[in-house]
Amino acid sequence: MRFNRGCAHTGIVVFVLAGGLFAQQANLGYDDTPMQPNGRWHIHDGRRPQPRLVAPASAKMTPVPPPADATVLVGDRDDLSGWQMTDGSPATWAMKNGILETGKGLLQTKAQFTDFQLHVEFATPSEIKGSSQGRGNSGVFLLGKFEIQVLDSYQNPTYPDGQAAAMYGQYPPLVNASRPPGDWQAYDIVFTAPRFTQRGTLDKPAVVTVFHNGVVVHNATPFWGPTAHKMIDPYTPDTAKGPIGLQDHGNPIRYRNLWIRAINDYDKS
Ligand code: MG
Repeated sequence: MRFNRGCAHTGIVVFVLAGGLFAQQANLGYDDTPMQPNGRWHIHDGRRPQPRLVAPASAKMTPVPPPADATVLVGDRDDLSGWQMTDGSPATWAMKNGILETGKGLLQTKAQFTDFQLHVEFATPSEIKGSSQGRGNSGVFLLGKFEIQVLDSYQNPTYPDGQAAAMYGQYPPLVNASRPPGDWQAYDIVFTAPRFTQRGTLDKPAVVTVFHNGVVVHNATPFWGPTAHKMIDPYTPDTAKGPIGLQDHGNPIRYRNLWIRAINDYDKS
C-alpha cells in the first residue's frame, strides 16, 4: 500500500512538473497559428523541441575572404552602391570600416539572383537586451522572400522555428551552433530558387542548405513557400528570382564580409 501511495504521489509530481514545462515551452511561441503543411506543428509552435546545442569550433573567427569570382556585397570599401531600400531609394544604413549596421527599413541588393552560394558574417550586440524574438533579431532574406533568421540564440530560448539560422516559421536549425553575443558568426548558404511551369504553377520549390559557424543546420530542405510571421505565403511566379535582403527588426546587428557566387548547371560554368 505504501509503495502504491508513493507511486501515485510521484506520478502527480511528475505530471505537474511536466505540465509546467509544457506550459513554459508553449509560452515561447504560439498554438493558435495555422498548422504547418506536414501537420505536425503549428507555425512558431513553442512546444516543438529545442534544437540540441553544439559549440562551434572557434570562439573567434577571422573574416572569410571571397573567392575570385564572387560578387562582394559588403566588403572593406564601405561601398553601399549595390544596395537600396525596398522602395528603391538610396541605402540609409551606416557602414564604417567594413562593418554594416542595421538601420531603419529593410535593405536589399539592387542585383537579382536565382541559384547561389552566399557567405554572411554577423554579430548580435554584446550587451544583452531583450529576450526571445526581441534579442538580436535581423534576418537574411533570400530572393527578398525566404528568411534565414538572425537572432541571438545563445541562452535565449524562443520558438524553435524562429531561432538563429531557422528557415523562419518553417524549420528550426538541425542544431543550435550559436556563438555568444558580440562574437562574429557566419552563415554559408546554398540556395536553389523555385521553378515554375509556363502556366505559372510551382514546378520545384526553393531549396536551401545552410552552415552556421561551419555546422550544417539545413540539408537541402525545401521551403513550403515564402516565409512570414504566423503564416506561410504561397509560391507565386515572382518568387523565382530576387535580391538579397537584410532585415531591420529594431535591434542593432552588425554585418561584414558578405559575398555571393551564382551557381550554374554542370557543363555551363
Ligand atoms: Mg528576423
